[in-house]
Amino acid sequence: MTTTTLDLAVTNENGNTTKTKRVLLLKPRGFCAGVVRAIDIVQIALDTFGAPIYVRKEIVHNSYVVNDLAKKGAIFVNELDEVPEGARVIYSAHGVSPAVRERAKERGLKVIDATCPLVTKVHVEAIKFAKQGYSLVLVGHRDHEEVEGTQGEAPDVTQVVSTVEEVAALVVPDPNKVAYLTQTTLSLDEARYMIEALKKKFPNIIGPHAQDICYATENRQTAVKNVAHGADLVLVVGSRNSSNSNRLVEVSKNLDTNSYLIDTADAIQPDWLDGVDTVAVTAGASAPEVLVKDVVEYLQAKGYGSVDEVEVMPENVRFGLPPEIVQAIASAPPAAR
Ligand code: SF4
Repeated sequence: MTTTTLDLAVTNENGNTTKTKRVLLLKPRGFCAGVVRAIDIVQIALDTFGAPIYVRKEIVHNSYVVNDLAKKGAIFVNELDEVPEGARVIYSAHGVSPAVRERAKERGLKVIDATCPLVTKVHVEAIKFAKQGYSLVLVGHRDHEEVEGTQGEAPDVTQVVSTVEEVAALVVPDPNKVAYLTQTTLSLDEARYMIEALKKKFPNIIGPHAQDICYATENRQTAVKNVAHGADLVLVVGSRNSSNSNRLVEVSKNLDTNSYLIDTADAIQPDWLDGVDTVAVTAGASAPEVLVKDVVEYLQAKGYGSVDEVEVMPENVRFGLPPEIVQAIASAPPAAR
């Protein structure tokens, strides 16, 4: 871990020791590679083809990002039936089920797929296990779009579980032929706990070669774990429906450090800062840096004069654009490119 000033106490000109109010800015924080790619895809589509561009569901789970793209001409819809026949539609970073892809074909839609490659990895595993005859257990939140999409790859053999009670209640045709997968944005500790419960119930269960929880989720949780003990409060910038942001709040609370999820600086309640000397600030994978900056400025105005960035680990992941958009740009009329 690299950091600058971490001493809590300072001595004033009268020789008295006082505590300084400070902000610890966690790194990595905010946008992951999948979110950057998804937002770029919408932006490039708008620049190349012009508005409107339809987007199925929120492109990423952040209200600021969605509102910003809506102002530029993106139209967010819940289902493909709301998209005019033959129009261009973008799938969100959370992925879609084969049923959605089929519906797009029926309606003659021009699809651009912004599904994060790390979500696609989980889809591919689901298809592989199902083809090999395994019953699938998907650990995740069943109302989350990513889980709906992954489950849709093999709906007849997939069961979603989010609690150990649900693991205990699982019934499968052959307990020796079970595989598990997880949502990409779970809490690492909770996922470990769930997988242990699954292994206890099905000793021969198999899982993915590499964990499904993505690097961005893991890194942001690790950063909170490293710093929460030295903070009085952890503020997580992110929207209510952002799974990985909610998990960051939980990780902090599990370490007995109070924590709140805030969409913007305006959501901070002044009494949260009563008796608080050190505030750690982080952001979920879909929260833009401009909102983090606003939070830091708010805290500075409240007397948190020292701001130290604490880099827990480097993060340099980038994903390429999907072939659909590369081809679409190449075949667009020169004026639209
Ligand atoms: S949080 Fe992880 S899985 Fe989700 S978009 Fe970002 S990198 Fe992809």
